[in-house]
Amino acid sequence: MKRDRFTIAVFMTVLLGGIIFATVLSEKHRLQTAHTKDLFAMDTYFTLEAYGPTAEDALESCARKVQELEDRLSVTRQDSDIGKLNEGNFSDSAQPGAEIAADTFELIKEARKLGEETEGALDITLYPVLREWGFTTGNYHIPDERTLRELLKNVDYTKIYLDEARRTVRVPEGTKLDLGAVAKGYTGDCLIEILKQQGVTSAMLDLGGNIQVLGAKPDGSPWRVAIKSPFESGGMIGVLEVTDKAVVTSGSYERYFVGEDGEKYGHILNPLDGYPVRNDLASVTIVGESGTRCDGLSTALFVMGRERAVEFWKRRPEFEMILVTEDGKVYFTQGLRDCFESGGEWNVEEIVRYEGGGA
Ligand code: AMP
Ligand code: MG
Repeated sequence: MKRDRFTIAVFMTVLLGGIIFATVLSEKHRLQTAHTKDLFAMDTYFTLEAYGPTAEDALESCARKVQELEDRLSVTRQDSDIGKLNEGNFSDSAQPGAEIAADTFELIKEARKLGEETEGALDITLYPVLREWGFTTGNYHIPDERTLRELLKNVDYTKIYLDEARRTVRVPEGTKLDLGAVAKGYTGDCLIEILKQQGVTSAMLDLGGNIQVLGAKPDGSPWRVAIKSPFESGGMIGVLEVTDKAVVTSGSYERYFVGEDGEKYGHILNPLDGYPVRNDLASVTIVGESGTRCDGLSTALFVMGRERAVEFWKRRPEFEMILVTEDGKVYFTQGLRDCFESGGEWNVEEIVRYEGGGA
């Protein structure tokens, strides 16, 4: 009798232990399981990956936000904020400017500021020139120089007038905006904010090559982000280990067309002459906290070329970068020393802020 009770007690303990163990395991599994969402938006593919019990719902909110931002920011939709601004006549200072969403207003403001900081290397009023080349329509062709000179007369980000009190925007006649250089970074910032608000602490967003990570991986180790090679041979130039960062790359290899002359024409234009950038850079990767700023800077520093980009970085502690030059060299800034691991075959050099003095 006693032995029976003992056997039952042991059996119950083992059973209970087993149930608790299984529950802990499945809870751990649930917390660690990746929830993913694939979207096609802003003319590219987005893959959103998040962990934790609230991840699934949070990703649904993210998908709705992406749609909302695309509806507001798209340059090819007449009913978006940008479409309305570009199609309407908002040059008359006696009339109220275009009424746009607070989001759009803030993004234009941030992009105009980046224009100032980069001395016009980033210019969100390039739209008429981009359209002429066919980059926004797909009807690619090489414009003649006179047409470009004419169109460039309306390209000037300093002419964007933002009425803070009314939250409206005015631009001179003929001046039109395109937020393509900053929209994905801004979207990333919005999504990271949504994920945080909904209790997610670990996520990796791939917005058409713009990477933004929230926290670390669920096991506590940093996210590993591959930096793609800008060359046709493919592969990658290395891996970056990051937590809570945006990693944004620009290069003409991402989108280009081959002209009637057999030459490649890339989608990033020099606002000075309206021609696709051709300098010593093949790609620029910017690493920092803000997706919007990293996105704007990746485009702008690509326009600047290596020397100016390095000078720009030396004056600013807020970001790090990796430059790949056309001759196949990889330069990374000193802040990435411990988190960038290059693929063995590349010729790699560290850029320091003060020559000779190290950090
Ligand atoms: P990204 O891929 O972030 O470098 O942005 C490139 C996109 O921004 C292009 O596809 C154009 O829509 C637009 N763009 C091209 N050149 C410039 C420029 N110099 N300043 C601002 N936007 C640009
Ligand atoms: Mg950009």
